[in-house]
Amino acid sequence: MSDSILVVNAGSSSIKFKLFRIVDRDLTPALSGGMSGIGSTPALKVRDGRGSVLADRRFEAGEVPDASAAQHHLADWLLHHLGDAAIVAVGHRVVHGGPTFTEPVRVDDAVLRTLETFIPLAPLHQLGNLDPIRVLRERRPDLPQVACFDTAFHRGHPELSDRFALPRFLYDEGVRRYGFHGLSYEYVAGRLREIDPEVASGRVVIAHLGSGASLCALADGRSQDTTMSFTALDGLPMGTRSGALDPGAVLHLIEHKGMSPAEVGHMLYFESGLLGLSGISNDVRTLLASDRPEAAMAIDFFCRRVAQATAALAVTLGGLDAFVFTAGIGENAPEIRRRVIAALGLTGLILSNDANGSAVAPLDGPVRIDAPESRAPIWVVPTDEELMIARHTMRLLGRSASGTE
Ligand code: ADP
Repeated sequence: MSDSILVVNAGSSSIKFKLFRIVDRDLTPALSGGMSGIGSTPALKVRDGRGSVLADRRFEAGEVPDASAAQHHLADWLLHHLGDAAIVAVGHRVVHGGPTFTEPVRVDDAVLRTLETFIPLAPLHQLGNLDPIRVLRERRPDLPQVACFDTAFHRGHPELSDRFALPRFLYDEGVRRYGFHGLSYEYVAGRLREIDPEVASGRVVIAHLGSGASLCALADGRSQDTTMSFTALDGLPMGTRSGALDPGAVLHLIEHKGMSPAEVGHMLYFESGLLGLSGISNDVRTLLASDRPEAAMAIDFFCRRVAQATAALAVTLGGLDAFVFTAGIGENAPEIRRRVIAALGLTGLILSNDANGSAVAPLDGPVRIDAPESRAPIWVVPTDEELMIARHTMRLLGRSASGTE
């Protein structure tokens, strides 16, 4: 029997999982997949550790109407196909650890109750994240479950990075700059320590550029500041999210255009960002391939904001010893990397055109893409949030995963 750790990343319209086998105290990916299009066009897809498709099944909308139906379909599939792999623990991605959780935690009833109090802080995600934990606790109360938070990595950042310029009582009530993408930053910071320990101990900006996008400023591997804050709307423009915005514009939409808070929320989360700017697509690939001026403008806007926010974080750090790209856009789009680094000319960062052009997924591991004359290294480091969750889960079980974190 080979022991396994199941990692679950559940949202409102999709639930993804990854199964790691524990082999010689190491974690090997064995299965990955999930259910997408819950309630609309449900589809179950599962691949093995080498990427071969094991399941590719479509459902009628009524067969998988909600997240809980999706969990049951997935659980059934896993039970039938796991073979000799015994799941010894489940690690969950939970978006919000509030002001309380500074690291992953094993879930019991008290923890679950505390996590439920953070639902208002991330209404879109937190509920969906907690649902499978609750269901599993009912079906398998003996199975250890660990919650790993997107916010935890930033909890140690300085007070200056944690506050808004709002009345003090709001901070005490939890209106804080929490920051997100922490599992990705933690993983990438750990990889950087393996491949370039000297740089990793310095002042680094990591750009997590995916459909959600943020930057993190790190000193000696620890978060000092980040562009997302109270919610995952702040900071950079994203696929469909606005990023930072004049709060007066939000008041205008409500007071003068008569939009409800829910309508404004929908616009800011799902109709803005690259999609809103271009009117064409939220996908960088489509925009780069388009010859329409709106597409070019959206890309220019995105790259300039990434560069501007990097400069601001370099001020927080008092300098910049390395810049790192990661996630879907960061790992796959040389043209975006080229434009971001070009816009950061004042930092003295210079790309190697050849190294940048050939660094596209699937990457085996980190790739250095700066030119010899660059003032500091530029890396592309593929992220792996699921592996980070599996490692945390294993550590909390009292079994150390070999690896450097
Ligand atoms: P998430 O995990 O937040 O859904 P990802 O990190 O997978 O997002 O990033 C998804 C985004 O990455 C896509 O929306 C797309 O814009 C971008 N992307 C993926 N592949 C490429 C590519 N080859 N070229 C440019 N952009 C890409």
